[in-house]
Amino acid sequence: MKRLGNMEVDNHELKIGGLAVSELTKKFGTPLYVIDQKDLTDRIHTFLAQFKSNTFGTHIIYASKAFTNLYMAQLVSKYGLYVDVVSGGELYTALKAGVDPKKIYFHGNNKLPKEIDDAVKAGVGCFVLDNEVEYEWLTETAEREGKKIRVLLRVNPGIEAHTHEYIQTAKNDSKFGVSIFDQQTLPFIKRIIENKHLHFAGLHAHIGSQVFEEASFFKEVDEMIKYAKDVEQTFAIKMDELNLGGGFGVYYTEEDKPFELSQFLKRYIQHIESTVAELDITPNTISIEPGRSLINASGSTLYTIGAVKKTMAGYPYIFVDGGMTDNPRPILYQAKYEAAIANKMDEAATQTYRIAGKCCESGDVLIKEVDLPKAETGDTLVIPSTGAYTYSMSSNYNRIERPAVVFVEDGQAQVAVKRETYEDLIRNDEMIKWKEL
Ligand SMILES: *Cc1c(COP(=O)(O)O)cnc(C)c1O
Repeated sequence: MKRLGNMEVDNHELKIGGLAVSELTKKFGTPLYVIDQKDLTDRIHTFLAQFKSNTFGTHIIYASKAFTNLYMAQLVSKYGLYVDVVSGGELYTALKAGVDPKKIYFHGNNKLPKEIDDAVKAGVGCFVLDNEVEYEWLTETAEREGKKIRVLLRVNPGIEAHTHEYIQTAKNDSKFGVSIFDQQTLPFIKRIIENKHLHFAGLHAHIGSQVFEEASFFKEVDEMIKYAKDVEQTFAIKMDELNLGGGFGVYYTEEDKPFELSQFLKRYIQHIESTVAELDITPNTISIEPGRSLINASGSTLYTIGAVKKTMAGYPYIFVDGGMTDNPRPILYQAKYEAAIANKMDEAATQTYRIAGKCCESGDVLIKEVDLPKAETGDTLVIPSTGAYTYSMSSNYNRIERPAVVFVEDGQAQVAVKRETYEDLIRNDEMIKWKEL
């Protein structure tokens, strides 16, 4: 297991943010999401420091769908990031956390009328329009509320990023946005520009997630800037903002070869600067929207090992007290992870294991094959790189309570989200009294 962020080994045991894993599990129980706060804030600083230009302004927008809660939203906005939301619930969380509504971008391919209404009333700073139905709803709401709404149009530049099919987003048949190759797109932009309730601020694209090819991002820049130039010339307007999305790939296992973030961001900015210079177009702001690349490496999940069971025909299974409920990525995307036994960090791996969860699904396997020291009941298993799309995608399948989330730094731990209780599980259930019962 590669040690990430502020992980160290002391007396055979893993420490995260200066805290021994055994202290964390004793105090907070398992399964447990642990966020290495210093690692996170360091990365926020890297984004802010490197994605910066003398030619145009930049916004770093945190894609909160990767991982959000009141504290996380508060933390990223305190450090100067903007916040992406894709639903009324994410919007509510950001607003309750005190995020400035002007610094919120509202995304999504099917924003509901009520969500649009809430967002307009809250004064959300930017809507990323996906389609014409939404355009009509937003216009009606803006008119009713007497507001002029700043919008970006989500366009699809037709770039095929090499990633899992479910997380590719800019292919020509993607559900997101409108294609730059579609004849209807320029007329649509014209309608937005001429609409007196909307302010057409520019374009947005997001080519996919967990993308490792720098070339894909550079190609996106080329296509988007060319298209922006086209739009500027066709309608004699000036583009205020170009938003290039997120999707920067991260490390899960040795199969992943992510770029070194700080170097990549520097080259990315240079590529954008030379392209805008070449085409003589300078938007006031160029934005990016990291989700996974900001939070993933800061998160780890701790589990207690229950039974270790050898099947007749395969690896011994390690059963843990969580599974697809706290991390559905393996079952959803065949995602791979590394692991270690947190209380046996100095022992050599002697055995290949399969890590399975406790859900009633044969597919509830967190890791298919991992080499570990001899595992015993009561050991603590740590799976790192679980900051993004785990807690945010978690479920209560089998009526399993969602784990707690704790942030750790300098030997201190703070609960950001409490562990759910059985009471929480039945909170919305109603005992209906039909006459037969
Ligand atoms: C999901 C998403 C992101 C973030 O993607 P990551 O892979 O987590 O960086 C950014 N922008 C949009 C529009 C998204 O849908």
